Amino acid sequence: MSTTLAPAADLLSRRARTGTSSAIRDLLQHAQRPGMISLAGGLPDATRFPLPAIASVAERVVRTQGRRALQYGVTRGEEDTRDACTTLFDDALDADDLVITTGSQQGLDLLGQVLVDPGDIVVCSDPDYVGSLQIFRAHRAALHGVRTTPTGFDTVAFEADLRRGLRPTACYVVPHFHNPSGTRMPRDAREHLAELSSHYGFVLVEDDPYRELHYDGENPTEAVLDPELHVRLRSVSKTLAPGFRIGAMAAPPWLRDAVVSAKQSADLHTSTLTQAIAADCLRADWYPEHIASLRVDHGIRRDVLCSALQREFGDRVRFTHPSGGMFVWVDALDGIDSTELLGHALEENVCFVPGPAFAVDRDLSIALRLNFTNASEDDLREGVARLGRARMRALA
Ligand code: PMP
Repeated sequence: MSTTLAPAADLLSRRARTGTSSAIRDLLQHAQRPGMISLAGGLPDATRFPLPAIASVAERVVRTQGRRALQYGVTRGEEDTRDACTTLFDDALDADDLVITTGSQQGLDLLGQVLVDPGDIVVCSDPDYVGSLQIFRAHRAALHGVRTTPTGFDTVAFEADLRRGLRPTACYVVPHFHNPSGTRMPRDAREHLAELSSHYGFVLVEDDPYRELHYDGENPTEAVLDPELHVRLRSVSKTLAPGFRIGAMAAPPWLRDAVVSAKQSADLHTSTLTQAIAADCLRADWYPEHIASLRVDHGIRRDVLCSALQREFGDRVRFTHPSGGMFVWVDALDGIDSTELLGHALEENVCFVPGPAFAVDRDLSIALRLNFTNASEDDLREGVARLGRARMRALA
């Protein structure tokens, strides 16, 4: 009996067939090329990982708590880790308020699973973090982008949309040092957003992995938010190391329970070993000094990149001078299409992420994002010189 089989790839679910891989991940392949200066990915500098300190914590954890730290654990995270992660939040949270996630990325994905039905409206910034856009799109959300202003998410424009009848399920913001725009929301804007969330009944998700990385003495703003509708995500990826894959979510009980059920089928629990090591690192006496030294280091690199851009391009470039985080957002460089510029830049052995990767509805074809935390000061200067040559090629 002969049957004609459909191509095997047709067996993929509709969701898998239409899913797109992140433009940044695709680009990172080029970033690995020998001689390439990458201003593309949002990578911390691996030479700044406190390796001897982490090694000694890891050894102690395995020797003294190995039987527990290598055993299966509970889905919401080990109590000791949840307790240590309360220090990542400003207010007096209890270990029971938190769920440990496999990076904050998993926190976002679980929220997508439990909050979004196909067609539900999710509000975000435009531009916004590629990884969150990917998740909300995968869950078939109808994304509604709100333009970012120099002070971040524009709550006034959003309120006007709500008054006109917009009814979102959730609103996603990165309050401090937004990826990619580098903006920081003032406290009153965060509180305005919280009021809108209470009034119109949508979940407010604050994803805050860059909050500790401030370079001009601006501590994170504290804001009073609605305890029934507010979710906060934290991560140790940018301050300790992303390889831990440790994030923490503070959410109201009705949402936390749903998230824990979804997490159970995703991965049972986050690695008990890295939970135990990260918990001890967060409590270690060297940890605050480590963050302080990252602030100094990253602040210098930000200044090196911004000065190099100014020197190389003068008034042909428009860019942000962020007070924290990892990125400089270039609004325009001579009006050149940034995807075309990237083609020339790769020939010059420098790469960055073109603006369209972060776009919801806006035309960001002449914008681009530059990372300043992963390249050395010399490489930042050389990277900008190479961008200058790429610009000449694009204009030729
Ligand atoms: N949110 C934002 C805004 C990010 O920039 C990133 C990482 N680039 C993440 C979440 C994911 O971080 P994690 O390593 O904690 O999963």
